[in-house]
Amino acid sequence: MPRPILATIHPAALQHNLARNRQAAPDAKVWAVVKANAYGHGIERVFEGLRSADGFALLDLDEARRVRELGWRGPILLLEGVFEPRDLELCSRLDLWHTVHCDEQIDMLAACKTHVGHRVFLKMNSGMNRLGFSPARYRSAWARLNALPQVDEISLMTHFSDADGGQGIAAQMACFADVTRDLPGERSISNSAASLRYTDAVVASDWIRPGISLYGSSPDHPEHMAGDWGLLPAMTLAAKIIAVQDIAPGASVGYGSRFVADAPMRLGVVACGYADGYPRVCPTGTPVLVTGVRSRLLGRVSMDMVAVDLTPVPGAGMGSEVTLWGRAANGMVLGIDEVAQAAGTLGYELMCALAQRVPVQVGD
Ligand SMILES: *Cc1c(COP(=O)(O)O)cnc(C)c1O
Repeated sequence: MPRPILATIHPAALQHNLARNRQAAPDAKVWAVVKANAYGHGIERVFEGLRSADGFALLDLDEARRVRELGWRGPILLLEGVFEPRDLELCSRLDLWHTVHCDEQIDMLAACKTHVGHRVFLKMNSGMNRLGFSPARYRSAWARLNALPQVDEISLMTHFSDADGGQGIAAQMACFADVTRDLPGERSISNSAASLRYTDAVVASDWIRPGISLYGSSPDHPEHMAGDWGLLPAMTLAAKIIAVQDIAPGASVGYGSRFVADAPMRLGVVACGYADGYPRVCPTGTPVLVTGVRSRLLGRVSMDMVAVDLTPVPGAGMGSEVTLWGRAANGMVLGIDEVAQAAGTLGYELMCALAQRVPVQVGD
Protein backbone atom coordinates (compact mmCIF):
# COMPACT_ATOMS: atom_id res chain seq x y z
CA MET A 1 0.00 0.00 0.00
CA PRO A 2 1.33 3.46 -0.81
CA ARG A 3 1.93 5.82 2.05
CA PRO A 4 -1.54 7.09 3.03
CA ILE A 5 -1.38 10.71 1.96
CA LEU A 6 -3.29 12.18 -0.95
CA ALA A 7 -4.08 15.56 -2.45
CA THR A 8 -7.39 15.89 -4.26
CA ILE A 9 -8.22 18.57 -6.80
CA HIS A 10 -11.89 19.58 -7.04
CA PRO A 11 -12.96 20.61 -10.57
CA ALA A 12 -16.46 21.57 -9.43
CA ALA A 13 -14.96 23.99 -6.90
CA LEU A 14 -12.79 25.57 -9.61
CA GLN A 15 -15.84 25.99 -11.78
CA HIS A 16 -17.79 27.46 -8.88
CA ASN A 17 -14.99 29.89 -7.97
CA LEU A 18 -14.68 31.02 -11.57
CA ALA A 19 -18.44 31.68 -11.61
CA ARG A 20 -18.04 33.63 -8.37
CA ASN A 21 -15.48 35.87 -10.07
CA ARG A 22 -17.78 36.40 -13.05
CA GLN A 23 -20.56 37.37 -10.68
CA ALA A 24 -18.29 40.00 -9.12
CA ALA A 25 -17.31 41.39 -12.53
CA PRO A 26 -20.20 40.48 -14.83
CA ASP A 27 -19.06 42.53 -17.81
CA ALA A 28 -15.42 41.53 -17.75
CA LYS A 29 -13.66 38.66 -19.45
CA VAL A 30 -11.61 36.41 -17.20
CA TRP A 31 -7.97 35.50 -17.48
CA ALA A 32 -7.72 32.42 -15.30
CA VAL A 33 -4.23 32.75 -13.81
CA VAL A 34 -2.57 29.34 -13.91
CA LYS A 35 1.06 30.31 -13.33
CA ALA A 36 3.23 28.16 -11.06
CA ASN A 37 1.57 25.02 -12.40
CA ALA A 38 -1.85 26.40 -11.51
CA TYR A 39 -0.75 27.46 -8.03
CA GLY A 40 0.50 23.95 -7.36
CA HIS A 41 -2.72 22.23 -8.47
CA GLY A 42 -1.39 21.08 -11.85
CA ILE A 43 -2.37 22.73 -15.12
CA GLU A 44 -3.70 19.49 -16.57
CA ARG A 45 -5.78 18.88 -13.45
CA VAL A 46 -7.43 22.31 -13.33
CA PHE A 47 -8.07 22.65 -17.05
CA GLU A 48 -11.51 21.04 -17.10
CA GLY A 49 -12.72 23.09 -14.15
CA LEU A 50 -11.48 26.35 -15.65
CA ARG A 51 -12.17 25.80 -19.33
CA SER A 52 -15.05 28.25 -19.36
CA ALA A 53 -12.54 31.06 -18.70
CA ASP A 54 -11.93 33.49 -21.56
CA GLY A 55 -8.19 32.98 -21.44
CA PHE A 56 -5.33 31.54 -19.42
CA ALA A 57 -2.57 33.71 -17.98
CA LEU A 58 0.80 32.33 -16.93
CA LEU A 59 4.51 33.06 -17.10
CA ASP A 60 6.26 30.08 -18.47
CA LEU A 61 6.44 29.18 -22.15
CA ASP A 62 6.45 25.52 -21.31
CA GLU A 63 3.23 25.94 -19.33
CA ALA A 64 1.73 27.79 -22.31
CA ARG A 65 2.63 24.84 -24.54
CA ARG A 66 0.94 22.49 -22.08
CA VAL A 67 -2.26 24.53 -22.20
CA ARG A 68 -2.20 24.34 -26.02
CA GLU A 69 -1.62 20.59 -25.82
CA LEU A 70 -4.81 20.31 -23.80
CA GLY A 71 -6.60 21.61 -26.86
CA TRP A 72 -7.12 25.20 -25.74
CA ARG A 73 -7.42 27.45 -28.78
CA GLY A 74 -8.41 30.64 -26.98
CA PRO A 75 -6.18 33.40 -25.64
CA ILE A 76 -3.10 32.73 -23.53
CA LEU A 77 -1.25 35.65 -21.93
CA LEU A 78 2.37 35.63 -20.77
CA LEU A 79 2.27 37.81 -17.65
CA GLU A 80 5.98 38.62 -17.71
CA GLY A 81 6.25 38.70 -21.48
CA VAL A 82 9.22 37.28 -23.34
CA PHE A 83 12.66 36.78 -21.84
CA GLU A 84 14.70 36.53 -25.03
CA PRO A 85 14.18 37.14 -28.76
CA ARG A 86 13.48 33.56 -29.72
CA ASP A 87 10.54 33.46 -27.28
CA LEU A 88 8.78 35.67 -29.80
CA GLU A 89 8.85 32.86 -32.35
CA LEU A 90 7.14 30.62 -29.85
CA CYS A 91 4.58 33.36 -29.21
CA SER A 92 3.78 33.30 -32.91
CA ARG A 93 3.78 29.52 -33.15
CA LEU A 94 1.59 29.02 -30.07
CA ASP A 95 -0.43 32.20 -30.67
CA LEU A 96 0.41 33.75 -27.29
CA TRP A 97 -0.40 37.26 -26.19
CA HIS A 98 2.42 38.75 -24.20
CA THR A 99 3.05 41.48 -21.71
CA VAL A 100 5.50 44.23 -22.62
CA HIS A 101 6.93 45.83 -19.51
CA CYS A 102 10.33 47.18 -20.55
CA ASP A 103 12.23 48.78 -23.45
CA GLU A 104 14.23 45.63 -24.10
CA GLN A 105 11.03 43.76 -24.96
CA ILE A 106 10.09 46.49 -27.45
CA ASP A 107 13.59 46.21 -28.96
CA MET A 108 13.09 42.46 -29.39
CA LEU A 109 9.77 43.01 -31.11
CA ALA A 110 11.23 45.67 -33.38
CA ALA A 111 14.01 43.28 -34.41
CA CYS A 112 11.84 40.24 -34.98
CA LYS A 113 10.81 39.01 -38.41
CA THR A 114 7.29 37.90 -37.92
CA HIS A 115 4.43 37.22 -40.27
CA VAL A 116 1.65 37.29 -37.74
CA GLY A 117 1.06 40.44 -35.75
CA HIS A 118 1.66 40.24 -32.02
CA ARG A 119 -0.96 41.05 -29.42
CA VAL A 120 0.61 42.74 -26.45
CA PHE A 121 -0.44 43.98 -23.04
CA LEU A 122 1.56 47.09 -22.26
CA LYS A 123 2.21 47.18 -18.55
CA MET A 124 2.30 50.30 -16.44
CA ASN A 125 4.14 50.50 -13.16
CA SER A 126 1.51 52.48 -11.27
CA GLY A 127 3.15 52.02 -7.87
CA MET A 128 4.00 48.36 -7.36
CA ASN A 129 7.54 48.98 -8.63
CA ARG A 130 7.97 45.49 -9.95
CA LEU A 131 7.25 45.36 -13.69
CA GLY A 132 6.14 48.05 -16.07
CA PHE A 133 6.83 51.46 -17.58
CA SER A 134 6.59 54.42 -15.25
CA PRO A 135 3.58 56.69 -15.81
CA ALA A 136 5.94 59.29 -17.29
CA ARG A 137 7.28 56.85 -19.89
CA TYR A 138 4.12 54.84 -20.58
CA ARG A 139 2.74 56.88 -23.44
CA SER A 140 6.00 56.97 -25.34
CA ALA A 141 6.28 53.19 -24.98
CA TRP A 142 2.75 52.92 -26.36
CA ALA A 143 3.64 55.17 -29.30
CA ARG A 144 6.75 53.14 -30.04
CA LEU A 145 4.80 49.87 -30.00
CA ASN A 146 2.03 51.39 -32.05
CA ALA A 147 4.50 52.28 -34.78
CA LEU A 148 5.78 48.70 -35.10
CA PRO A 149 4.41 46.61 -37.96
CA GLN A 150 5.07 43.54 -35.79
CA VAL A 151 2.37 44.64 -33.35
CA ASP A 152 -1.29 44.09 -34.11
CA GLU A 153 -3.08 45.10 -30.97
CA ILE A 154 -2.06 46.89 -27.80
CA SER A 155 -3.98 46.37 -24.57
CA LEU A 156 -3.26 48.20 -21.36
CA MET A 157 -2.55 46.74 -17.95
CA THR A 158 -1.32 47.43 -14.47
CA HIS A 159 -1.13 45.52 -11.19
CA PHE A 160 -2.13 46.57 -7.68
CA SER A 161 0.17 46.36 -4.69
CA ASP A 162 -2.53 46.79 -2.02
CA ALA A 163 -5.84 45.53 -3.37
CA ASP A 164 -6.08 43.20 -0.36
CA GLY A 165 -5.37 45.76 2.33
CA GLY A 166 -6.00 49.10 3.93
CA GLN A 167 -4.11 51.25 1.47
CA GLY A 168 -6.40 50.10 -1.32
CA ILE A 169 -6.25 50.87 -5.01
CA ALA A 170 -7.35 54.50 -5.32
CA ALA A 171 -3.94 56.03 -6.02
CA GLN A 172 -2.94 53.41 -8.57
CA MET A 173 -6.37 53.57 -10.23
CA ALA A 174 -6.12 57.35 -10.54
CA CYS A 175 -2.62 57.12 -11.97
CA PHE A 176 -3.60 54.47 -14.54
CA ALA A 177 -6.79 56.28 -15.55
CA ASP A 178 -4.97 59.57 -15.96
CA VAL A 179 -2.14 58.25 -18.12
CA THR A 180 -4.29 55.97 -20.30
CA ARG A 181 -7.39 58.16 -20.56
CA ASP A 182 -7.47 58.59 -24.35
CA LEU A 183 -5.51 55.51 -25.40
CA PRO A 184 -7.46 52.87 -27.29
CA GLY A 185 -7.34 49.21 -26.34
CA GLU A 186 -8.66 46.82 -23.77
CA ARG A 187 -7.74 47.21 -20.12
CA SER A 188 -6.81 44.66 -17.48
CA ILE A 189 -6.23 45.82 -13.94
CA SER A 190 -7.67 43.55 -11.25
CA ASN A 191 -6.28 40.50 -9.49
CA SER A 192 -8.50 38.40 -7.20
CA ALA A 193 -8.51 40.88 -4.34
CA ALA A 194 -9.44 43.83 -6.54
CA SER A 195 -12.12 41.88 -8.43
CA LEU A 196 -13.86 40.74 -5.26
CA ARG A 197 -13.41 43.87 -3.15
CA TYR A 198 -13.97 46.57 -5.76
CA THR A 199 -16.87 45.57 -7.93
CA ASP A 200 -17.33 48.71 -10.00
CA ALA A 201 -17.05 48.30 -13.75
CA VAL A 202 -14.06 50.62 -14.15
CA VAL A 203 -11.94 48.50 -11.83
CA ALA A 204 -13.16 45.30 -13.45
CA SER A 205 -12.53 46.85 -16.89
CA ASP A 206 -12.25 44.47 -19.87
CA TRP A 207 -10.35 41.59 -18.29
CA ILE A 208 -9.97 40.56 -14.67
CA ARG A 209 -7.00 38.38 -13.71
CA PRO A 210 -8.01 36.20 -10.76
CA GLY A 211 -5.62 33.58 -9.47
CA ILE A 212 -5.89 32.74 -5.79
CA SER A 213 -9.68 33.06 -5.60
CA LEU A 214 -10.08 30.42 -8.34
CA TYR A 215 -8.33 28.00 -6.04
CA GLY A 216 -10.65 28.81 -3.16
CA SER A 217 -8.35 30.80 -0.94
CA SER A 218 -9.37 34.24 0.29
CA PRO A 219 -7.31 37.06 -1.26
CA ASP A 220 -7.68 39.16 1.87
CA HIS A 221 -7.53 36.69 4.74
CA PRO A 222 -8.02 37.21 7.67
CA GLU A 223 -10.27 40.18 6.94
CA HIS A 224 -12.43 37.77 4.96
CA MET A 225 -12.45 34.00 5.01
CA ALA A 226 -12.86 32.10 1.76
CA GLY A 227 -16.40 31.25 2.82
CA ASP A 228 -17.24 34.95 3.23
CA TRP A 229 -16.48 35.36 -0.48
CA GLY A 230 -18.42 32.21 -1.35
CA LEU A 231 -15.26 30.40 -2.46
CA LEU A 232 -14.76 26.64 -2.19
CA PRO A 233 -11.41 24.88 -1.71
CA ALA A 234 -10.02 23.48 -4.95
CA MET A 235 -7.42 21.36 -3.16
CA THR A 236 -7.69 18.98 -0.25
CA LEU A 237 -4.63 17.56 1.45
CA ALA A 238 -5.50 14.51 3.54
CA ALA A 239 -3.56 11.73 5.21
CA LYS A 240 -4.25 8.92 7.61
CA ILE A 241 -3.35 8.18 11.19
CA ILE A 242 -0.59 5.56 11.17
CA ALA A 243 -0.02 5.30 14.93
CA VAL A 244 -1.79 6.15 18.17
CA GLN A 245 -0.15 7.05 21.48
CA ASP A 246 -1.79 7.33 24.89
CA ILE A 247 0.31 9.65 26.98
CA ALA A 248 0.38 10.61 30.64
CA PRO A 249 0.51 14.10 32.15
CA GLY A 250 4.02 15.49 31.80
CA ALA A 251 4.82 13.45 28.67
CA SER A 252 6.01 15.41 25.65
CA VAL A 253 5.42 15.06 21.94
CA GLY A 254 7.86 15.22 19.02
CA TYR A 255 11.26 16.84 18.42
CA GLY A 256 12.26 19.41 20.98
CA SER A 257 9.47 18.25 23.32
CA ARG A 258 7.55 21.35 22.36
CA PHE A 259 4.21 20.04 23.58
CA VAL A 260 3.77 18.67 27.09
CA ALA A 261 0.50 17.02 28.10
CA ASP A 262 -1.18 18.37 31.23
CA ALA A 263 -3.63 15.50 31.41
CA PRO A 264 -3.81 11.94 30.10
CA MET A 265 -4.50 12.14 26.40
CA ARG A 266 -4.54 10.25 23.14
CA LEU A 267 -2.79 11.47 20.02
CA GLY A 268 -2.69 10.31 16.44
CA VAL A 269 0.44 10.28 14.30
CA VAL A 270 -0.40 11.37 10.75
CA ALA A 271 1.45 10.44 7.56
CA CYS A 272 2.16 14.03 6.55
CA GLY A 273 5.19 16.16 7.29
CA TYR A 274 7.17 19.06 5.95
CA ALA A 275 8.58 16.93 3.13
CA ASP A 276 5.00 16.78 1.85
CA GLY A 277 4.72 20.55 1.81
CA TYR A 278 3.06 20.97 5.20
CA PRO A 279 4.83 23.93 6.82
CA ARG A 280 7.30 22.97 9.51
CA VAL A 281 6.66 26.25 11.31
CA CYS A 282 3.04 25.35 12.13
CA PRO A 283 2.87 25.33 15.93
CA THR A 284 0.82 23.35 18.43
CA GLY A 285 -2.76 24.46 18.01
CA THR A 286 -2.74 24.70 14.20
CA PRO A 287 -6.18 23.47 13.14
CA VAL A 288 -6.72 20.08 11.48
CA LEU A 289 -9.81 17.98 10.85
CA VAL A 290 -9.84 14.43 12.23
CA THR A 291 -12.63 12.50 10.54
CA GLY A 292 -14.09 15.90 9.73
CA VAL A 293 -13.96 17.14 13.34
CA ARG A 294 -11.84 20.13 14.23
CA SER A 295 -8.79 19.37 16.30
CA ARG A 296 -5.23 20.63 16.57
CA LEU A 297 -1.61 19.87 15.86
CA LEU A 298 0.61 18.85 18.77
CA GLY A 299 4.35 19.58 18.93
CA ARG A 300 6.74 20.01 16.03
CA VAL A 301 6.05 18.97 12.47
CA SER A 302 8.58 16.32 11.42
CA MET A 303 9.72 15.51 7.91
CA ASP A 304 7.20 12.70 7.39
CA MET A 305 4.77 12.92 10.29
CA VAL A 306 2.81 15.20 12.52
CA ALA A 307 0.89 14.51 15.74
CA VAL A 308 -2.73 15.54 16.26
CA ASP A 309 -4.91 15.69 19.35
CA LEU A 310 -7.59 12.98 19.39
CA THR A 311 -9.36 14.38 22.45
CA PRO A 312 -12.24 15.92 20.46
CA VAL A 313 -12.68 12.69 18.44
CA PRO A 314 -12.58 9.73 20.81
CA GLY A 315 -13.73 7.38 18.04
CA ALA A 316 -10.71 8.14 15.85
CA GLY A 317 -7.73 5.81 15.63
CA MET A 318 -5.52 3.91 13.23
CA GLY A 319 -6.47 4.66 9.65
CA SER A 320 -8.71 7.62 10.47
CA GLU A 321 -8.76 10.42 7.93
CA VAL A 322 -7.00 13.67 8.81
CA THR A 323 -7.60 16.70 6.62
CA LEU A 324 -4.65 19.09 6.68
CA TRP A 325 -6.57 21.57 4.53
CA GLY A 326 -9.58 21.47 2.25
CA ARG A 327 -12.71 19.38 2.50
CA ALA A 328 -13.18 16.32 4.69
CA ALA A 329 -15.29 13.31 3.71
CA ASN A 330 -18.15 14.60 5.90
CA GLY A 331 -18.14 17.93 4.03
CA MET A 332 -16.44 19.99 6.74
CA VAL A 333 -13.98 22.52 5.34
CA LEU A 334 -10.67 23.64 6.82
CA GLY A 335 -9.51 26.68 4.87
CA ILE A 336 -5.92 26.59 3.68
CA ASP A 337 -5.78 30.22 4.82
CA GLU A 338 -6.16 29.21 8.46
CA VAL A 339 -3.23 26.83 8.22
CA ALA A 340 -1.21 29.42 6.34
CA GLN A 341 -1.93 31.99 9.03
CA ALA A 342 -0.64 29.60 11.70
CA ALA A 343 2.53 29.34 9.60
CA GLY A 344 2.79 33.11 9.22
CA THR A 345 2.21 32.98 5.48
CA LEU A 346 -0.52 32.89 2.84
CA GLY A 347 -2.58 30.17 1.22
CA TYR A 348 -0.68 30.96 -2.00
CA GLU A 349 2.59 29.65 -0.59
CA LEU A 350 1.11 26.45 0.85
CA MET A 351 -0.66 25.38 -2.32
CA CYS A 352 2.36 26.15 -4.48
CA ALA A 353 4.59 24.15 -2.13
CA LEU A 354 2.70 20.86 -2.26
CA ALA A 355 5.57 18.39 -2.61
CA GLN A 356 6.23 16.19 -5.62
CA ARG A 357 6.03 13.06 -3.54
CA VAL A 358 2.37 13.61 -2.67
CA PRO A 359 0.10 11.69 -5.06
CA VAL A 360 -2.65 13.84 -6.52
CA GLN A 361 -6.03 12.74 -7.79
CA VAL A 362 -8.76 14.66 -9.52
CA GLY A 363 -11.88 14.21 -7.43
CA ASP A 364 -15.31 15.78 -7.51
C1 LIG B 1 -0.29 36.31 -10.14
C2 LIG B 1 -0.90 37.46 -10.83
C3 LIG B 1 -2.28 37.69 -10.80
C4 LIG B 1 -3.21 36.87 -9.94
O1 LIG B 1 -3.13 37.33 -8.63
P1 LIG B 1 -4.05 36.72 -7.46
O2 LIG B 1 -3.70 37.53 -6.28
O3 LIG B 1 -3.62 35.30 -7.31
O4 LIG B 1 -5.44 36.84 -7.91
C5 LIG B 1 -2.80 38.72 -11.56
N1 LIG B 1 -1.99 39.50 -12.30
C6 LIG B 1 -0.66 39.33 -12.34
C7 LIG B 1 0.17 40.24 -13.16
C8 LIG B 1 -0.07 38.32 -11.61
O5 LIG B 1 1.25 38.15 -11.66
